[in-house]
Amino acid sequence: MYIAKCTEDGVSYAAVDFSRLPHDEIARKRRFLVCLGCGGPAYFMKASKSGRSACFGARPHAEGCDEAAPKYETDPDGRGEDQEQLNNPAERIVVDLRFGTGKKPEVKENDDLRPNHGRRGRFQPGGARPNAETHRRLSSLLRHLMEIEGFSQSKQILDIDEYGEFVAKDFFIPLLDASEEHSGLFRGYWGMLTDAQLDSDNTLWLNSRGRHNISFCIDSQSASELFNRYGIQDEEELSGAYILAMGKVRVSANGKIYCPLDEEQLYTLRLVR
Ligand SMILES: [Zn+2]
Repeated sequence: MYIAKCTEDGVSYAAVDFSRLPHDEIARKRRFLVCLGCGGPAYFMKASKSGRSACFGARPHAEGCDEAAPKYETDPDGRGEDQEQLNNPAERIVVDLRFGTGKKPEVKENDDLRPNHGRRGRFQPGGARPNAETHRRLSSLLRHLMEIEGFSQSKQILDIDEYGEFVAKDFFIPLLDASEEHSGLFRGYWGMLTDAQLDSDNTLWLNSRGRHNISFCIDSQSASELFNRYGIQDEEELSGAYILAMGKVRVSANGKIYCPLDEEQLYTLRLVR
């Protein structure tokens, strides 16, 4: 998108003009951008070293919005994507936290099931199993949340390793709904990031909107691992990315809601490409 509106000052900016604002002003106003067509939450991307010019994007657009939505890469962490069916009606989802983190996969198989090859998320026709369950990676869950309306509000059971079992509709919290009332609760926070910033300690902050909305913090060591994992050069490339992060919300002394992401297996990103 070439134009977006900032709700803080009510001004509609062309991306090239927005990119020429003072640094502090960009840092603040980029969290208050909306799509001119539908009012959906928007983000700003600076011009990249590889030659992409400054631009805006928005996700999700309201249905019927004329503004084109950006493409998200189909291979979010460079390690291959499930080719599973998205509409699998399994009632129980075993979340595979180990996949793609360098840790050994530990997919449990029921005795009556075939080996896992190609079976992921797929059931044999007519095979009404008493304990219908499917295994999913975090990246696959995030794709579900983005693409399947109603999944976040479903009653599917999530079995998340040592963290326990949760009902999807209680577990998945849109980023902009995260609040103090979630403090201390283990939940899956998901949605679009407006921007990311490194602070003076090289802690990486992933922001979801204004200072009253949830941010995620990642220490400098883990941040460089994140950059490697997703093949990115700087934090600007995280603008507009989707995130699903499992963790506990904390509230700082000055009321900021945040969630530390210490373990890479507990979050996944889907970058704009
Ligand atoms: Zn729109």
